[in-house]
Amino acid sequence: MIPSIDHVIHGRAGQTSASTSEVFNPATGEVTSHLTLGTPDDVDAAVSAAQQAFDDWSATPPHIRARVLFRFRDLIERDLDRLANIVTAEHGKVFSDAKGEIVRGLEVVEFACGIPQMLKGDFSESVGKGIDAVSFRQPLGVVAGITPFNFPAMVPMWMFPVALACGNCFILKPSERDPSLANEMAALLSQAGLPDGVFQVVHGGKVVVDALLDHPGVEAVSFVGSTPIAEYVYRRGTAAGKRVQALGGAKNHMIVMPDADLDKAVDALMGAAYGSAGERCMAISVAVPVGQATADALVERLAPKVASLKIGPGVDPEMDMGPLVTQAHADKVRGYIDAGAAEGADLVVDGRDIHRQGYEGGFFLGGTLFDRVTPDMSIYREEIFGPVLSVVRSETFEEALQLINTHEFGNGTAIFTRDGDTAQAFLSKVRAGMVGVNVPIPVPMAFHSFGGWKRSLFGDHHIHGPEGVRFYTRLKTATLRWPKGIRDGADFVMPTLR
Ligand code: NAD
Repeated sequence: MIPSIDHVIHGRAGQTSASTSEVFNPATGEVTSHLTLGTPDDVDAAVSAAQQAFDDWSATPPHIRARVLFRFRDLIERDLDRLANIVTAEHGKVFSDAKGEIVRGLEVVEFACGIPQMLKGDFSESVGKGIDAVSFRQPLGVVAGITPFNFPAMVPMWMFPVALACGNCFILKPSERDPSLANEMAALLSQAGLPDGVFQVVHGGKVVVDALLDHPGVEAVSFVGSTPIAEYVYRRGTAAGKRVQALGGAKNHMIVMPDADLDKAVDALMGAAYGSAGERCMAISVAVPVGQATADALVERLAPKVASLKIGPGVDPEMDMGPLVTQAHADKVRGYIDAGAAEGADLVVDGRDIHRQGYEGGFFLGGTLFDRVTPDMSIYREEIFGPVLSVVRSETFEEALQLINTHEFGNGTAIFTRDGDTAQAFLSKVRAGMVGVNVPIPVPMAFHSFGGWKRSLFGDHHIHGPEGVRFYTRLKTATLRWPKGIRDGADFVMPTLR
C-alpha cells in the first residue's frame, strides 16, 4: 500500500481531490507515495482559515510570536537526522548535504526569533508643538510561498519564519517532486504552539499556483523556481494587485585568475559544480580561467577529480553525489550533454554512461566536464541544473567580466585571485546579486538577504534578512498630538506583557 501525502488545512490533513501524482525515491526509481493535487477549492479553504487566524496571530506581540519560533527551532534540531533522511529519500542528495540545507534554513528561523528588534519603528519627538511622529511596520495578512524541488527544506524556510514572525499567515505550495518536508514543518510548527490556520500546506501544481495568484485574499507571493515560471508568477501576481518576489534560474560563473591558488580553486569548483548533483541555484556551472596557461592547468587538475566522483544513493555516507531528482530531469541534462558535444565543445569527462549495481532504476548521471565552451552554445546560454561544468576560456579579466555582465542571469558569481585590486574591481563592476571573493558559493547569511539580478529575480525585494521583513510588512506612519488630560495616580506594580 503506497502512502498518500495530503494538504494541511486548518491543522488537519485534508484530501479533497482524487487527482494525484507520484513521488519517487530517485536512488531506486521506486514510487514512494502519492501526492494529492489541490484544487481552487482547497486554496479557498486555506485562505479562509488563514484569514480567520490572522486577527489573533497579528495581534500577538512579536516577542510572543518569536517564542513559537524558538520552540520550532529546537524541534528541528531534535529531528535533524530524521528530516534530512526524508530530504534524501525524495530529492536524492547525499545525507550530509540534506542536513546542511536544513541547518541553513534553521539560521533563518534564528534570525526570525529576533523579530522584535527588526519591527522596532522610527520615532521623531516634537515635529510640532506637542506633536510626535512615528513609523512602524505591520503584517500584510495572508501570504503564500511557492517553492522548487531542489531545497525542499531550506527554500520554504527562507520564507515562512520571517513571514510568521512579522505576524502574517502563510500558505506553502511546495514542489510536487519532494513534498513531504512541508507537512513535517507544519507538524513541528503545530507542536511548537503555532495556532491552526497560521501555517498551511496546499499541494499541487499549476492549478494551485494560479488559484493562489488570482485569489483576492492572498496579499503577497514569494516564489522560487525557474525563470520562465518566475516571470509568469510575477506578471500574473502583480496584475492581480499582489506584492510578488519571484526568484528565478541562474548560470553562475567563477573567474580563476592566473594568480589564484589553483588547488583551492579546483576544490572549490568540485564542490560548487557537482555538490547536490549541480541542482543548486548557486551552483557554479561555468568556470572562466583567465589565460591559456591557467585554463590548461585548471582542466588538467579538474578532469581526474570529476572522473573519480563517488556517485550513488544519498544514504551512503561515502558518496559525493546522489542521483538527479527525476528520470525526466536526468534525461533533460543528458540532452544538454549531447547538445554540447554536437555543438563542438570539448567533452573532457562524459557522465552519460553510468551504471550503479543494485540501483539500476535510479536517476543517476556522472559528473561531466566540458572545455572550450563558447558563448553561442546552448550549454553556455541555458541553465542545465545538473552535474555539468563548462570551461569558457578567456584572455583577460575584462573579457571574463564582460561574459558575466552580458549573460541573461545574474544570481551568484565568484572570483579566485590573490590580488585585492582585481577582486575589488570585480566586486564593484560585476552585475550579479551575490558575489564571492575566493568563496565559490556566496550564499548570504540569514541576517543578510538572498537574491539575484537581471532575469534571476523579478520584483523589488530579495528574500529573508532585512529585505524579507520589508517584503512581509507594510509601513504605517502616524502624526500624534497628545491632548492634555487627567494624569493617573502612581502604579507600584512592575508592568509585564504576560
Ligand atoms: P519550477 O519552476 O519547475 O517549479 C517551481 C515551482 O513552480 C513548483 O512549486 C512548481 O509546482 C511550480 N510550477 C511549475 N510549473 C508551473 C507552471 N507552469 N505554472 C505555475 N506554477 C508552476 O522549478 P524547479 O524545477 O522545481 O526548481 C529548479 C529551478 O529553481 C532552477 O531553475 C533553479 O535555478 C531555481 N531556483 C532558484 C533559486 C534562487 O534563489 N534564485 C533557488 C532555488 C532554485
